[in-house]
This record gives sequence, structure tokens and C-alpha cells, in this order.
Amino acid sequence: MEIRMVDTISQYQQVQEQIDQAVLDVVRSGIFINGPKVRGFAAEMSEFLDVPHVIPCANGTDALQVALMAMGLEPGDEVITPTFTYVATVEVISLLQLRPVFVEVNPDTFNMDPSSIEEAITEKTKVILPVHLYGQAAEMEAIMAIAKKHNLFVLEDTAQAIGAKYKFSDGREMSAGTIGDIGTTSFYPSKNLGAYGDGGAIFSRNAELGDYLQVICNHGAKKKYYHDNIGVNSRLDAIQAAILSIKLKHLNRYNSSRIAAAKVYDELLSGIQGVKTPVWEDDGSHVFHQYTLKIEAGRAVRDEIKDKLKERGIPSMIYYPIPIHMQGGYTKYGYKEGDFPLSEKLTEQVLSLPMHSELTREQQEFICGNFREIFNELLTKIN
Ligand SMILES: *Cc1c(COP(=O)(O)O)cnc(C)c1O
Repeated sequence: MEIRMVDTISQYQQVQEQIDQAVLDVVRSGIFINGPKVRGFAAEMSEFLDVPHVIPCANGTDALQVALMAMGLEPGDEVITPTFTYVATVEVISLLQLRPVFVEVNPDTFNMDPSSIEEAITEKTKVILPVHLYGQAAEMEAIMAIAKKHNLFVLEDTAQAIGAKYKFSDGREMSAGTIGDIGTTSFYPSKNLGAYGDGGAIFSRNAELGDYLQVICNHGAKKKYYHDNIGVNSRLDAIQAAILSIKLKHLNRYNSSRIAAAKVYDELLSGIQGVKTPVWEDDGSHVFHQYTLKIEAGRAVRDEIKDKLKERGIPSMIYYPIPIHMQGGYTKYGYKEGDFPLSEKLTEQVLSLPMHSELTREQQEFICGNFREIFNELLTKIN
């Protein structure tokens, strides 16, 4: 049985005719940058997320960088963000000469722990940057309350959670990425809404920020060749926009399939001593970009399971093996091993299983049957 971590090919085959036609239409139109396809996709995304301003850009990392550029920050200003994330979240902070200030995550949800934020706030803090990790909406209500109290920007990294709905305690519901001042996402091919190349987008409810984000993406110019600001070149191309327009119509179904697959994993992997399945609510707040287990025995056992799964043709991934505060490129901020014990422990325990919209129950039974066998063999070896 062939099992892929992400199956972009089967997903393509379902909409092949439409996609092929859309790509050809763009090629024949001769309009490759901006133009009607890109504007159309931005409008569709705006309606889908119920957020007025959507600015497509070149990738999810640019989206984060441009968002921070729009906030009028000064070098040395501080951005509070989890250390347990993908490097892009933090990289842009450093590139802009801002200072990342790390906080812990909740080891059940893998998301920023709001109770750790206030102690990290200083005179220089300007932004809280939560990440909706693995597809699960972060605790936005608490985060927004802290931001309001301290007058801070909130920037949501929604690269992994497009289409997730966050539920407030009063029952209100908002799409992840549209709650803070600015939200960003990525259309990297393996993301829940994946292009066939790079892509990203930035969201805001604020008209002034929305305009400025667009200007920054366009070399700082509102009017062509008049550069009132310093910007960057960050564009979504028309071929990607045309593909994304088609795939956006299926995003709810893609996300539902992922959620259904997560339930099957929960069922097939329940009751294994020493293996924790994800903690989540079945209310649309988790769209399962990843299905991530915790192997409580730690790194050696986790890594061996991964190797043994691979021998049996089952891919798995470690997102992420090292927290950012311990990465070589980030030593200048003075953090050391032991500063974030919960996040450090997670990096030793996490193992993500194949997860995509086309996963079948049969494939999952094969994956989980093999997982149980491998895990039991390792346990008897250890004991
Ligand atoms: C994928 C990802 C990004 C970056 O997106 P790119 O399009 O690859 O630049 C940023 N943050 C997180 C959490 C991601 O998963």
C-alpha cells in the first residue's frame, strides 16, 4: 500500500479538468501578475473568511514580514511568540531587527499558553504573535484580552489553520487569522489550501492597515513609481490565484476530510499506554494540518518508531525537532536549554502521521496496525 505524508496528486486528479483549464486560461490571457485572477481570488477569500481586507502575496513568510512592517515598529521592539513553532514565524522578527521574546506552549494543544504572556511583557513589547499550530486555533480570547489591556498588536500566523473557526465563550465564531489586527497564511503546496507553487495572503479588518499592507507588498508604492514607503516585492502570480480559486471552493470539504481522518486515528490509536493522541474539540476549531502524537518515552523511542514505520513504507514527520530558542541562528537572544522545558519536551515526543484530505480508512488501518506492532515490539525490548 502506498502511503504519502501529503497527497497533492490524488487531490489534483479530482479537479483536474477545471485546474488544467484555469491554468491554460491564464497562459492564454497573457496576464501573469496581478490582474483579474488575483483580484478575484482575494475577493473570494475575503468572503470565505468574512474579513474585508485580503492581500495576496508571494508566500507565508513574506506575509508575516509584511504584517510586521505595517505595524510601524522600531528596531529592538519586542514580539512575543511561542518557541515551539516553524522557524518562519521567528525569522521575520529577527530580519526586521525586532526582538523575539519566547513563551511556552500548552503541551496538550501545542499552542501559545496565554498564562505565560503577561510575565513576558516589557516596555518594549509591541506585538503578540500566536501560531495556530497543526491547524488548531490558538486561545484567541485570552490573547486578545491581554493585548487590549497592554495596548499591543496581535498578529496571527494562520499558515497551518486556514478555515479553522475559533469559538468565543459567548458563542461567537470567527475564522482563525481574522481575529487579531492582522492574520497571515501560506499556500505552500502541502498546506490545507495549497497552491502548485508558492503563495501567501494577509488579512485585516482595519482599512488603514489593509491599504498599507498592499502598498508594502508593492514596493511601497500606492501609485506606480511613487514610493512613499519602503516596501518589498511580494506578489501571488495569476496561475496560482486561478488554481487557488478552484481549490478554495473545496476547502471546507478538504478540512472536513482531515477532521474525519483525525477521528479515525483517535479511534484506531486509543488506549496505547505511553502514546497520547491530540487533545481537540470537534467544533471546527481544529482543521488538522497535522495529526500529531506524543510518544511519552521520548526522543530515542520516538525516533526508532519513525525509522521502523519508514521501513514498512509509512512516512511520518517530526514537527519540530528543536525549539527556536535552541536553534543555532537564534543564540544571540541569550536563551538556553532549560528555559522552556515544556516546549523542549515536546520536541522529543512529537510524531506527526500522514494527514491529508484523501486519506482512506484502509490506509489508516494499515498505518495504525503497524504503529501498534512497532510500539509493542519496542516496549518488550525496553522492559
Ligand atoms: C508554512 C508556514 C509558514 C511559512 O509559509 P511559506 O509559504 O512556506 O513561507 C509560516 N508559519 C508557519 C507556522 C508555517 O507552517
